Amino acid sequence: MRKPKIVILGAGYGGLMTATRLQKAVGVNEVEIVLVNKNDYHYETTWLHEASAGTLHHDRVRYDIRDVIDGSKVEFVQDTVLEINKDDKKVITETGEISYDYLVVSVGAEPETFGIKGLKEHAFSIINVNAARQIREHIEYNFATYNMEEEKRDDRLTIVVGGAGFTGIEFIGELTNRVPELCREYDIDIHKVKIICVEAAPMVLPGFDPELVNYAVAQLERKGVTFMIGTAIKEATETGIIVGKGEDEVEEIKAATVVWAAGVRGNSIIEKSGIEAMRGRVKVQPDLRAPGLDDVFIIGDCSLMINEEINRPYPPTAQIAMQQGEVCARNLLALVRGGELEAFKPDIKGTVCSLGEDDAIGVAFGKKLYGSKASFMKKMIDNRALYMVGGPSLVLKKGKFNIL
Ligand code: FAD
Ligand code: NAD
Repeated sequence: MRKPKIVILGAGYGGLMTATRLQKAVGVNEVEIVLVNKNDYHYETTWLHEASAGTLHHDRVRYDIRDVIDGSKVEFVQDTVLEINKDDKKVITETGEISYDYLVVSVGAEPETFGIKGLKEHAFSIINVNAARQIREHIEYNFATYNMEEEKRDDRLTIVVGGAGFTGIEFIGELTNRVPELCREYDIDIHKVKIICVEAAPMVLPGFDPELVNYAVAQLERKGVTFMIGTAIKEATETGIIVGKGEDEVEEIKAATVVWAAGVRGNSIIEKSGIEAMRGRVKVQPDLRAPGLDDVFIIGDCSLMINEEINRPYPPTAQIAMQQGEVCARNLLALVRGGELEAFKPDIKGTVCSLGEDDAIGVAFGKKLYGSKASFMKKMIDNRALYMVGGPSLVLKKGKFNIL
């Protein structure tokens, strides 16, 4: 009898969690499992701000997928998914087609530029290892070039970050550590460097605990960061950005580096495949299946679930993607073996936002944390994510132990 075939798209937090949980639970001949990912490595998306600033080497944020999967139970295919043909139950990839009985879509997020002119051409986004490496190199190139030009261009030393959400703030935190190093390396007066954070909402980290936000802003301002709050990026140009407080009040900021960290959407594969979605995120059923598609699970940043308590979507986070991966694996087993599918309920343990080396803010298990305690907690969370997928050996290989 033919074994049921489960195909998992994406080896990020959601996909890898599903694959590693499944491989523990199934017998060798029970199901065929295929994991498809663009690269042969997994990267910790939650560490990409560090690789982008250059405070952590990009090889530290990634590891070989084959190191954590059991080749006797999961076949790994390195390929890029282009589209899902849900009627014929096939995945179209760059090199061919893969058929499935059950599909897990966990291909993560893309930057959401809201149609703002020039952003795609002139701004960077912290979205994968290659993008992170390019941002780091671009910043370093501008610092290296500054003293080589007869007519000094101060805009080479200006870095604009669009958005003071968690990604923007964590990246800025890393920059405050990296910039002094770059200044020392390239003989630059640190006072010439500008790090500007532009946030459209009236506060930094909108919706987060105001006391912790005040701490974060004070710490980052002390390290030289300028916040432009209630100010939106309207356009990105070859020489910088145009910002505005309203229709009339517009200003140009000249900057060689613009990093857009002002929002994400689900992967465009979803829309290309004709699956109904809002900004690439599919409002999934409680059991994580797409509406009307009983053989397709959608998890991680491509899924959307409403938090009934506040009637708003849960934010797309690694914490939720990993928990979904665990439930998705159990629900796949229920489909294969026959049984009840369970409803997914996020268990939010807290949120910690790093502010650079040995500093952070956060709420964990209902308690507010800041400073080195919060930073310690953040490293523990990072190590836990490694442990959940690859056990103690992965933590020893890739974990964060620089605990002060
Ligand atoms: P991902 O983990 O991003 O994985 C997607 C995978 O799909 C990748 O391996 C990618 O290569 C692959 N893929 C994409 N397209 C294709 C294709 N066409 N074909 C084949 N493979 C493809 N969340 C938290 O909970 N805590 C944090 O501290 C935190 N920090 C963050 C810091 C930063 C800088 C950023 C950007 C995000 C952070 N997040 C955090 C959010 C978190 O990273 C995401 O919610 C999480 O990565 C989503 O998991 P996922 O499995 O959906 O996608
Ligand atoms: P976000 O949507 O959370 O924040 C984007 C910010 O950009 C918002 O504050 C928004 O007001 C602002 N913005 C939007 N348009 C703008 C414009 N035109 N000009 C200026 N500002 C503008 O996005 P994010 O920070 O990338 O986070 C994405 C997801 O990843 C979230 O769910 C977040 O919780 C998660 N994340 C978590 C952590 C953590 O837990 N430490 C870290 C990073 C990301």
